[in-house]
Parts: sequence; structure tokens; C-alpha cells
Amino acid sequence: MNQVVVAVENLSLSSCWSCHTPFDGVHLFCPACHIIQPTAKLSPFSRYGLIATYDIDLKALEKTYLKVQQILHPDKFVSRTDREKLYSSQQTMEMNMAYEILKDDVKRAEALLQEEGVNFEEKTIHDPHVLMMSMEDREALDEATETGPLEVDAKKRYKDTVVDLKKVFEEKDLEKTIQKTLELKYLGKFLNDIKDKKRKLRENVTANS
Ligand SMILES: [Zn+2]
Repeated sequence: MNQVVVAVENLSLSSCWSCHTPFDGVHLFCPACHIIQPTAKLSPFSRYGLIATYDIDLKALEKTYLKVQQILHPDKFVSRTDREKLYSSQQTMEMNMAYEILKDDVKRAEALLQEEGVNFEEKTIHDPHVLMMSMEDREALDEATETGPLEVDAKKRYKDTVVDLKKVFEEKDLEKTIQKTLELKYLGKFLNDIKDKKRKLRENVTANS
């Protein structure tokens, strides 16, 4: 089970800290002595042995994640040295952080854009159509007495935007990719706002009955 392949960007040859066998860092464990290795500096994609693309197989990713959880489980390191315990917990942390990014439609896009050198925090939506849409959303949400239809509509738009994002990433259209990512981020936030409103409406009903 310790054969989970983790690709490396930095192919400079190092060696296993325990048995000193030359080691390319492709595995979590030394291929010779099967001892856990320290974390390498890797992108979230490389950590899971994936090519950096937006359209990834989320089911397969989850499977790998669960496998890694098993392999790195603290129970497996109870009788190991402190150093191995430390490395396994550091590897767990890095693998978890990478998973959180990869499985999230917005964070995954941001990670890819970051690799392109885009500083996402500086970016703002400047598509007038999207700006208008967000104003209309705000108004509709403020006035809504039930959130069902708004939620269905926003979920559909979110899904459609993910599809659009896959396309613009493939076309390597950086400007459109940035705008679509911002749009998706906005829709994610709007979906949260809808949930908040739904809770408030429910609380009001309970308070008035
Ligand atoms: Zn070794």
C-alpha cells in the first residue's frame, strides 16, 4: 500500500534519510527501506500525482485521498521513531491541505492561476454582465420570502460556470479564466448567502409560531 506515487517538480536527486539509497522523492516512502520520507515542496497537483489541469477526476482523487489517509494513519506509526511520527504527521497535513484545494472548484482554479503567476487577490470582476447579475441577485435575495427557486437557479449557474471554466482553461485563455473564476467565487458566496437567508426565514417562522 505504500506505492502511492507522488510526482516531483524538483527532480534533483536526494537520498533516503534512513538508508541513504538515492531517492527521487516520487513516493511518500523510500522504495528501498519503505521508511516514511519528509515532505517535499510540491504543488497540490503534484502531491497527488496529477497533471496540473482544471478538469480532474474528483472521484479518483477522493479514492487516492482515502488511501493516503489509511497509509499515513497514526496507528501505523505507533511503534515507529519520533522522526517517522513527525514525517508522517507532516505528510498527512500536506496531503490534507492539497486535497482541500483540489476538490474545491474555486480553490483548484486559483491554484492553477497562481502557477501562471496571477495574483488573484488583486483581481476584480469587470464584466458588466456579471456585475449587473450580482446586483439583481442581491435585490432578489433581499426581497425573497422563500429561497428555493433562487437556490435552484444559483446552483445551475454554478454548475454551468464550472463547465465554462473547464473550457477556458483548456483554451488557455488567461483573461477569461480569471473572470470565470471570479464569477464562480461570487456564485459560491451567493449560495452561502442564500443558505443564511434560508436559516433566517426559518428562524422567523419558528419565532412567530
Ligand atoms: Zn530508505
